[in-house]
Amino acid sequence: MNTYVNPDRLEFIVTYACSGKCRHCSLGDPSGKAAHIDPAAAENAVKQVAGNYKINSVMTFGGEPLLYLETTARIHAAAKESGIPHRQIITNGFFTKNKAEISPAANLLADSGANEILISADAFHQETIPLEFPLAFGEALAKRCINVKVQPAWLVSPENDNPYNVKTREITVEFEKIGIPVNEGNVIFPAGNALKYLGEYFTDIIPENPYEQDPGHITSISVEPNGNCLNGNILQRDILELIDSYTP
Ligand code: SF4
Repeated sequence: MNTYVNPDRLEFIVTYACSGKCRHCSLGDPSGKAAHIDPAAAENAVKQVAGNYKINSVMTFGGEPLLYLETTARIHAAAKESGIPHRQIITNGFFTKNKAEISPAANLLADSGANEILISADAFHQETIPLEFPLAFGEALAKRCINVKVQPAWLVSPENDNPYNVKTREITVEFEKIGIPVNEGNVIFPAGNALKYLGEYFTDIIPENPYEQDPGHITSISVEPNGNCLNGNILQRDILELIDSYTP
């Protein structure tokens, strides 16, 4: 047993490719980064880790994970089969320009076992993502009884009345009108594009970096699109070996 790693959560960054181009994106400009995670390796990682640790949740996100819809569905199906109770996706809800593909995608995800879906929608996402798409996707997910919520990004704080937050509140109301509740969301951290384009808002209190984890106490294992994980790669070594050999 490696005392540095005691996982209860698995995260898969399915891809850094994205259908959005947000000015608050912590990744900077994710366009052109088309690599995506190998579905068989990801499935295997889920089963191996869940077979040896008590895993409470699996999350898939990106970039935009649903650009690789079937891969995302396979990860959640493996999580369900492994008895992991929380199977979550964070998406911007814009993975196709063909509206006829929205309901089948929601059905595939529901059938795969994904059971908590957060749709990122706010003033920033909706500068490049037409609102009608995440709204239609949210409606299709709700019809399949998936727990779906809107996850807005707030600038400075949810209470601050800057023009972005004012617009975000208008957008979240559109989801509430169709019965989709609003999650607490997150406060934008100054990294990537946020630092470049919104730097004037980070002069006072710097919000906590939500992506940071103590490298000496790993509870959430994250796998990148190219398979990188802990100090190795799941395409080259068994994930259980990576856990056992990890040092901070
Ligand atoms: S914030 Fe999310 S949706 Fe927007 S560009 Fe970055 S990864 Fe894509």
